[in-house]
Amino acid sequence: MRSNIRRTFILSAIFAALGSSFTVSALPEFPGSQYNNSVPDTQQVLGYKLGSRISEPAAIRQYFMTLAAQYPQQLKLVPYGESWQGRQLFYVVIGSAQNIARLDQLEQNMRRLADPVNTSEADAKALIAQQPASVWIANTLHGNELSPAESSMALAWHLLADQSEFTANILANTLVYIDPLQNPDGHHRFVSRYYATAGMEHSDDRLSAEQNEPWPNGRSNHYLFDMNRDWISLTQPENRGRVKALQRVYPLLFVDSHEMGGDMTYYFSPEAEPYNPHIQQAQREVLNWVGQNNAKWFDRFGYHYFTREIFDAFYPGYGASWPLYQGSIAMTYEMASARGHHYRRSDGTVVTFADGIQRNFVAFMATLETASQRAKPLLQRFYQYRKDAVAQGRKAKTRSYIFPASRDKAGHQRLTALLTEQGIKVTQATKAFSACGTDYQLGAYVIDSAQSTYHLLRTLLDSDVPMDQPFIKQQEALRANNLPDQIYDVTAWSLPLMFNLEMNECSRSVNVEGVTVTEQRILPGSLTRPDASYGFILPWDGMDAARFAAEALKAGVVMRSSDLPFTHQNGTRYPSGSLIIARADNNAELNQTLEKLAALSGAVLQGVDSSWHTDGPNAGSANMVRLQPVKVAMLWDEPASSLSAGSARFVLERELGQPVTAIRPAQLKQADLSRYQVLVLPASAGGSYQQALGEAGYNNIRHWTERGGVLITLGNATNFALSGETPLLASKREYKATDAPAADTKDSKDKQKDQVAGTVLNTEQYQQMLKAKQARPDWVPGFLAKAEVDQSHWLTAGLPASATTVYVGNEIYQPLAINHGRNLLKFAGADEVKASGFVWQDNQQQIAHKPLLMWAPQGDGMVISFTQEPNYRAYVNGLHIALANAVLLAPAHSGAVR
Ligand SMILES: [Zn+2]
Repeated sequence: MRSNIRRTFILSAIFAALGSSFTVSALPEFPGSQYNNSVPDTQQVLGYKLGSRISEPAAIRQYFMTLAAQYPQQLKLVPYGESWQGRQLFYVVIGSAQNIARLDQLEQNMRRLADPVNTSEADAKALIAQQPASVWIANTLHGNELSPAESSMALAWHLLADQSEFTANILANTLVYIDPLQNPDGHHRFVSRYYATAGMEHSDDRLSAEQNEPWPNGRSNHYLFDMNRDWISLTQPENRGRVKALQRVYPLLFVDSHEMGGDMTYYFSPEAEPYNPHIQQAQREVLNWVGQNNAKWFDRFGYHYFTREIFDAFYPGYGASWPLYQGSIAMTYEMASARGHHYRRSDGTVVTFADGIQRNFVAFMATLETASQRAKPLLQRFYQYRKDAVAQGRKAKTRSYIFPASRDKAGHQRLTALLTEQGIKVTQATKAFSACGTDYQLGAYVIDSAQSTYHLLRTLLDSDVPMDQPFIKQQEALRANNLPDQIYDVTAWSLPLMFNLEMNECSRSVNVEGVTVTEQRILPGSLTRPDASYGFILPWDGMDAARFAAEALKAGVVMRSSDLPFTHQNGTRYPSGSLIIARADNNAELNQTLEKLAALSGAVLQGVDSSWHTDGPNAGSANMVRLQPVKVAMLWDEPASSLSAGSARFVLERELGQPVTAIRPAQLKQADLSRYQVLVLPASAGGSYQQALGEAGYNNIRHWTERGGVLITLGNATNFALSGETPLLASKREYKATDAPAADTKDSKDKQKDQVAGTVLNTEQYQQMLKAKQARPDWVPGFLAKAEVDQSHWLTAGLPASATTVYVGNEIYQPLAINHGRNLLKFAGADEVKASGFVWQDNQQQIAHKPLLMWAPQGDGMVISFTQEPNYRAYVNGLHIALANAVLLAPAHSGAVR
């Protein structure tokens, strides 16, 4: 309700008439809209009308800063983080002056509703009675999806300027959170290159340069991550900041506003099948409320839309999924993208950037109306969700998840911090205990199921999240007809499996003395016995050791790494890879240097007084190699997949601390590579490295490898090592295994190729003839595969006997014969290879026993081929140590003369 003073003000006719000139075309008109002209529009703040120019991230921020400064009683701007390139991430919250004045209280109330253990039903009822609804509208996570970010300015302006009853009701009943730009770095990349390419007239032609972004496109963030897959692993600072912010305010509805292909229309909820089984029925009902009300307004304005197709709700790491597991209702909206000022569709019509602003604006307003009208039921359902979650967790078959944590301290620290960041309580035992018949040492971790984040912890921790069987049957039918499946993303993401950590399930609640884990991802390391006279040993037991080694090489520390396990006379057994740092090899400031590096990396170095080993090699043995400073080059640009290149660079630079020189193919072809010890070829996005690098490039890389270089191929880049007359790697890529008769390849000159001898077929023979011959294996959308580890080699140091990888795609390679190299990681047998998720039966059979990691000496150097990405989304944490070994340990094993 508005005050009378306000009404008089409206009548005084200083307000614009219906329809605003805010955008290039008027904003769609909601009932009774009357605009207060004193609220500045983009023309006044930025110098252009909304929709006439794509706004740079700095301009968007400037606009919201201006509103925040002028309307502090209705709009608050809250920074929540920083992008890799240093751009501020922020959201604004808009509400009635009354609600904004008590914002802290209202947000605290939501945190109390989110905590049903300490908030009784009666308390909840009292809170709900005075609490407005809340909607969080998140925009442009993919930086080249333009209209959502601009629409956020239209929405904010409308909410401040419109004097209608309709809008006043929304603001009285709803807190409107707007995150205008979730990915400023990617957005900046898009905008700067779009305008750098556009001509006198902006082209709507899909063939034009401005409609075809150069590599890497603006979708991803600085490290080229698709942040719309990263919400469960939080490898990127942008998502980390958001997840923290969302747990401060717990919005009831969460809209992730995107754009899709320009030939489409508009998409909103409900989502397509399959749904993740941990999403609750009551939540799916709300998706329908929102969709139906959006549809009402789209019909009113004559906009087309679709629902329930393409965008599914199975994978929990989308922006439009993750909040669901907190009890919010999350949805994706997708507008047909003009990917520039305008875009000619295949039916000849033109979709403009301003069209996108209008449609998003309507979808946002419609959603706010739903929230505003259903505020009380939404609040009630949110509390009930969290309360039911605790109760369901208490009754669950697995009441406690327990990590014995007997190895890989760094991995456990990282995983438990990650769970904590997402609102899951983890306890680390400070005393030994036993549970379900097993004894655990102090340091083990326990997670109790009876938590308000029960559904989230199930979907993150369970070894499998089952897909709907009828849906799978449909996919099998599509595949049988050689049609693409409808599985939108990977079918498995179990964090304990991807971190390669042992986890036990126990049916009882475990009473354990312990401390609650914090969000600290790396615990500072230290030196034990700093006065030890001989030096220090660092067990090679995870990424903290690898991080330490990378930093120590940069600091000039002399270290030896053991190819074999050894036992020190103090009785400690050290695994292969472990580092020995002798005082005799280093300068007088050794302790100071090591203390600094240990604190940074998390490594705990153990002081020893002698070098006497009772088993395994001594420090002076040929089985102890001196680590060498490493310079890493990586192929950058087409035909590399930007996701593969970005995640590899991220893992090397940010997880390991190893700088990377990114080199484009044109330079790589002929450059003198001798100053690099390692060259990484990321997976290709479909194009061919053989073509991009040509014979000259191939020979350059080959000669460099033979003179001592370490060539690392990721995923399908392995094909490059198989190419040429004398391939670098003696493996072969496989066709799909089939029992169909082999294709007739006899090529006698007198026989015409398009004619064969006549046949008489029965039904079975007919079916045989339909079977694909020399076809690629079917595409696998993504499952978790188990691999067996050959632990006798330095390249697998730090890995346990089995490891988990994500398997995506259809690359299957033949194992190396023993005289050509080693298959250090190989997929388990057909019955065991599937650790989690869905994979076609045929592929499962064919993948079994095939190599995941091949190592082949080549002249003085070597080739290291990961046939699947160890850096996939940077969330297969358990395999990062293998990449670290390839980068840090391999150069020490090459025959290069220094
Ligand atoms: Zn998107």
